[in-house]
Amino acid sequence: MRYVSTRGSAPVLGFADTVIAGLATDGGLYVPETWPVAPEHISGDYAKLAADVMSPYIGDEVSAEDLASLCAAAYSTFRDPRVTPLVPLEQGHWMLELFHGPTLAFKDVALQFLGKLFDHLLEIRDERITIVGATSGDTGSAAIDGVKNCSRVKIVILYPHGRVSDVQRRQMTTVNSPNVTTLAVDGTFDDCQDLVKAMFNHAEFRDRHRLSAVNSINWARIMAQVVYYFSAIQQLAANGESIGNGVSFSVPTGNFGNVLSGWIARRMGAPIRHLVVGSNSNDILTRFFETHEMRARDVVPTLSPSMDIQVSSNFERLLFEMNGRDGGLTTEQLQRFRSAGSFAVEADQYDTWLAPVFRAARCDDTQTTAMIKDVYQSTGQMIEPHTAVGVLGGRTHQEDGVPMVTLATAHAAKFPDAVERATGRRPELPAHIADLFDRPERATRVANDLAAVEAEVAAVSGL
Ligand SMILES: *Cc1c(COP(=O)(O)O)cnc(C)c1O
Repeated sequence: MRYVSTRGSAPVLGFADTVIAGLATDGGLYVPETWPVAPEHISGDYAKLAADVMSPYIGDEVSAEDLASLCAAAYSTFRDPRVTPLVPLEQGHWMLELFHGPTLAFKDVALQFLGKLFDHLLEIRDERITIVGATSGDTGSAAIDGVKNCSRVKIVILYPHGRVSDVQRRQMTTVNSPNVTTLAVDGTFDDCQDLVKAMFNHAEFRDRHRLSAVNSINWARIMAQVVYYFSAIQQLAANGESIGNGVSFSVPTGNFGNVLSGWIARRMGAPIRHLVVGSNSNDILTRFFETHEMRARDVVPTLSPSMDIQVSSNFERLLFEMNGRDGGLTTEQLQRFRSAGSFAVEADQYDTWLAPVFRAARCDDTQTTAMIKDVYQSTGQMIEPHTAVGVLGGRTHQEDGVPMVTLATAHAAKFPDAVERATGRRPELPAHIADLFDRPERATRVANDLAAVEAEVAAVSGL
C-alpha cells in the first residue's frame, strides 16, 4: 500500500516510511491511496482479527508471520482475553470497553501495537529514534507504556509540573525503564507544547537526535483502531444480536481519530449504520454537523479533558475524501480556516458524505454528571465522564432494530473525583495497578527553557 498526503504535495510513501514520518512534509496527514475491502470471513481472537484487518494497509513491508507476532505481543498486555469486551448497558445499547490496556484508556489499543511496530521497522532499517511529546493527560502514559520495552526507541515526555492529575502523573513517572524519561516543566501544558514544537523546528537538533512524534495524526494509530469496530460487530453476532440493519456506534470525540477509524471500518465494508460524534461543551464538531460550518472557539475546561479541543486534527482526513482527494482544495480550505477562523462545506458534499453516516450530540458537565449517576443507579456500572458523553449520544440516536454500541474510552478509576461526586462511591484501580500510589516516582524537574530541555533530551538520546 502507498500513502498520499491530504495536502497533495508531499512525496508518496510506503507503509513503513509513513509510520516513521508521522506528519507529511507539506503539513498534511497521510492516507492510503485506496481503501481496501475487509476480509470476508472474520474469525479468531482479537490478535488474529487485528492482523487480518490491518494486513492490506501494510502489504509486504511486514511479513505475515511477523505481523501475527506483533499483534499477539501487543494485545497480550490487555487484562481481558477479548481485549475490547462488549458488555450490555440497556435494551439494544451496549458498551465496548476499550480500557483494559495497561494505562486504562483506549489509546492503549493503538499505542501498544505502535510501540511493537516501531521497534520492528527500526530493527529492519538498523535505525533508532527519540520520541518527544507533551501531554496533559492520557496520551503520555499510553505512549510511554507502548514503548517501554523497545530497544530502538527512547521516549521523553514533558508535562506541566503540578498540573496533571495524580493518577495520570504516576502512570508516567513510575515506569521504571531505562528508555523512558519524564520531564516536569515549570510551566503550563501550552508551554510544554511550545517547547516540543520548538525542538521539532530546530532542524539540526531534530535530525541529530532523530526526533519523532506519536500524536494522533500517525496513520498506524488510526489503522489499529479500525480493528475494534470489527470486533464489536463480531461480538454482537456471537451474542445472537441481529445486525441485518447495521450497527451504530457512539464515540466520545476529541481529535476525531477514534470516530474516523469507525468511518474507515464502514468504508471497508463493515455493516455500520450511523456514527454518533459526541462532544462536551467544546462542541466545534457538533456545531459543524448542525450548521455545515467549522468555526473555532476558545477551549473551556470540562470533566472530560481528553475532549477539550479547539480543532479536531484528524477531520482533515475526511475533508480530503469529501474534496474528491484534491489536496490543493483541502489546503485552501484549511488556510481559510486558519486565517478567517472558519470554513463551510457545500450542501452536496454534506449530503453525500456526512448526512448518511454521521449524527452528533453534545453533553455539558451537568449532563455528564447526571449520566454517570443515572447509569450507576440503573445498571450498577461505573462509567467515567468521556464515556458518559458517549452514552448520552447513544441514547439520543438509538433506533429500533439497530444495536447501538457506545465506546467506553477510559476506566472509571482514571477520573475518580468526577465519578465519586456523581455516584457517592470512589472507583477502585484494577489489581494490576492498585499499588500505583506506592510505586517510586522518577521525574526530572526542568525550567520552561528550550536550552535546558534540549540538554535533557540530548543526554537521553545518546545520538
Ligand atoms: C483521547 C480520548 C478521547 C478522544 O479521542 P479522539 O480520537 O481524540 O477523538 C476520548 N476519551 C478518552 C478517554 C481519551 O483519552
